[in-house]
Amino acid sequence: MSAIDTLPPLSQVIETHGIAAKKSLGQNFLLDLNLTAKIARLAGDLSGCDVLEIGPGPGGLTRGLLAEGARRVLAIEKDSRCMPALAEIAAAYPGQLEVINGDALDIDPLAHLTPPIRIAANLPYNVGTELLVRWLTPKDWPPFWSSLTLMFQKEVAERIVAQPGSKAYGRLALLAQWRCDARIVMHLPPSAFTPPPKVSSAVVNLTALPEPRFPADARVLERVVAMAFNQRRKMLRSALKGLGPDIEDHLIAAGIKPTDRAETIGLEQFCALARFVAAA
Ligand code: SAM
Repeated sequence: MSAIDTLPPLSQVIETHGIAAKKSLGQNFLLDLNLTAKIARLAGDLSGCDVLEIGPGPGGLTRGLLAEGARRVLAIEKDSRCMPALAEIAAAYPGQLEVINGDALDIDPLAHLTPPIRIAANLPYNVGTELLVRWLTPKDWPPFWSSLTLMFQKEVAERIVAQPGSKAYGRLALLAQWRCDARIVMHLPPSAFTPPPKVSSAVVNLTALPEPRFPADARVLERVVAMAFNQRRKMLRSALKGLGPDIEDHLIAAGIKPTDRAETIGLEQFCALARFVAAA
């Protein structure tokens, strides 16, 4: 019998430890262990990797990550009610699961992890988006993680993988795709969760590239893209006016028509524009 088989079903865990889902913590749990095992497999080959899991809740995905052979899992969970359930998993996998009871937005996980590091999470979407932007904009590249496997509401997942010309295309797509391969790897209906949320969800996989796809200074690119999409319906020459009097020249030099709108411009052109802006 493997370690995972010694643990009780998740519905029983929730009842035993009184972990009724709280809306304020965005708790929509995955209780089907076949599903959490499948998500863990989507995180890639975990053997020889440390995995950072944010928001383990009662531990369905945590069990999947350990059963899939993660060397170690560091799980950060805000809800102290989940600690006894996670302690049961830690006992079944001695020395392999460390749990921190705290807010993932306040904790630096690096001191607890050894590369290679993968990140996996089923998080409330606001926290997930904030963490994703942090993970995509580190001081140095490559980042401390090699892949991110994250559950989002479907609309957010579509924004991450969006291509120019679509409504979903914007800052998140450019930030993600500049230095990562980004793919939606699974769609989940509301009924997959307990309690079911109002919207559908999707799992996105992001793999860090060793180098950005096109050269650009990260801070300048982030600034250009943020400005361009803050006023996405405006022509770029007006949306980017704040970048200085030469912005029309920079746009033309980057092969962009000053009358174009941000949502039609691809990553390569945005990077070229960032280079001309930085060189001015
Ligand atoms: N991973 C579990 C699963 O799939 O069943 C739980 C998913 S539930 C959508 C989100 C989890 O994130 C909850 O357990 C919640 O308490 C936790 N959480 C919410 N905000 C958090 C934060 N800022 N830091 C750490 N955990 C958080």
